[in-house]
Amino acid sequence: MDSEQLREYAHKMVDFIADYYKMIESFPVLSQVKGSSLPSLSPSLEKASSSPYPPPTVRDLWWMYQPGYLKELLPDSAPCKPENLEDVFDDIRQKIIPGITHWQSPDYFAYYPSNSSTAGFLGEMLSAGFNIIGFSWIASPAATELEMIVLDWFAKMLKLPEQFLSTGQGGGVIQGTASEAVLVVLLAARDKILLKAGRKSLEKLVVYCSDQTHSAMQKACQIAGIFPENFRVLKTDSSSNYALLPEVLSEAISKDLSFGLIPFFLCATVGTTSSAAVDPLLKLGNISKVHDMWFHVDAAHAGSACICPEYRHHIDGVEEADSFCMNAHKWFLTNFDCSLLWVKDRSALIQSLSTNPEFLKNKASQENSVVDFKDWQIPLGRRFRSLKLWMVLRLYGLENLQSYIREHIKLAEQFEQLISSDSRFEIVAPRTFSLVCFRLLPPLYDQDDGYKLNYNLLDAVNRSGKIFMSHTVLSGKFVLRFAIGAPLTEERHVVAAWKVLQDEATILLRGS
Ligand code: PLP
Repeated sequence: MDSEQLREYAHKMVDFIADYYKMIESFPVLSQVKGSSLPSLSPSLEKASSSPYPPPTVRDLWWMYQPGYLKELLPDSAPCKPENLEDVFDDIRQKIIPGITHWQSPDYFAYYPSNSSTAGFLGEMLSAGFNIIGFSWIASPAATELEMIVLDWFAKMLKLPEQFLSTGQGGGVIQGTASEAVLVVLLAARDKILLKAGRKSLEKLVVYCSDQTHSAMQKACQIAGIFPENFRVLKTDSSSNYALLPEVLSEAISKDLSFGLIPFFLCATVGTTSSAAVDPLLKLGNISKVHDMWFHVDAAHAGSACICPEYRHHIDGVEEADSFCMNAHKWFLTNFDCSLLWVKDRSALIQSLSTNPEFLKNKASQENSVVDFKDWQIPLGRRFRSLKLWMVLRLYGLENLQSYIREHIKLAEQFEQLISSDSRFEIVAPRTFSLVCFRLLPPLYDQDDGYKLNYNLLDAVNRSGKIFMSHTVLSGKFVLRFAIGAPLTEERHVVAAWKVLQDEATILLRGS
């Protein structure tokens, strides 16, 4: 690599990215490729609704491209000769950007936030620049050591129990995603119990979570070989604000025990994906303890809020957990990917995941004097991800990071008030962090109880290109989710989004 060419091209790329951010509000938030974010309505709902909703005709023209559009625009094979950087930029502008959903737009309110920041960028650039593969301590000692230090700093900011620090039997590690985090702890828990109960007991192992737990738990069970009939998805409802009730868990465990099964893993969530519900960690943790189960806490999205003293109580009870995960790449200004996982007993992970081929052997590892993160994760290779988190922590500082979280929660409160001030809408689940779940109330005699009405409302606001939101279903109701957390979002964006929602609701209600 020619470093002068790198300097020249990288400056151009930084200019390109900076200009993108400058112009980001001018793009339609949702990609312009037809397909949208909505599933098809079920045929029964199509039939059930007799309301003459305005058919989506003119607005269909908004979609510039059909699925597969890029294949039409790019050549069939890679170039034989080097091309010009300016030509690549032209293609990015004309062919790639229309197919991008602008997750960093201040008008992005869908799914969950996926933060970037100047500090996160710089760390990511440096990591790409070094491009080291720090699977073992010896492969680049600073990579492992910085990761341990930064995860200890973070654990202290969250006031996690000391057992999660690297100074004891536990420690933190950066995984790519919360899905990988839950998989590795499930494997550790599985192997720990099998050692006790015998290898042949796999078919008896039972995993518990709620119907609001992220689907990552189900995927982890599929990979870990947990028998599908032993994956317990416990019911929640509006009466518990969609949190898992301890008595529901106890009852399920008792039933399984009576059948000779072995309860061994519980996943609780702080900030569920659909409505940001918070499971009661302390009570659930106590039950896990009685039954000697591994207790995992998934705070992928909402964990960031717990660096603020006033929100820390949401993870009270984490003292009982065996593992805790939160994604710094969601709501913590750290570019994807950076999922933080802490365990109390690192030896459980290592026992499950370590291999020791000749070509990786070295004195430091053999003497057990260092941490080799290859034994805490699925792949061998690993990026120097702690750099970006370190940069975020250093260039913002705890106080600014707390203000950042508080500002989003304040905006969510304001949005909630706007909803409450319009009697045509209702809040569907209590707001705890910066996610507001609401819906448009159906007119009297609406045959599908507002399902199709809200589906159409979401479709209309997303097609407008002005904002992008997503949905969920709670207690059979189609619910709109307004997730605040993009770094560039200000009050004016929230107010403008509300205006889009109100205007589209007026059009829909007029036609119903
Ligand atoms: N857990 C929760 C509570 C989430 O909200 C999400 C993402 O939406 C996940 C897990 C999965 O995150 P990841 O993409 O990091 O696997």
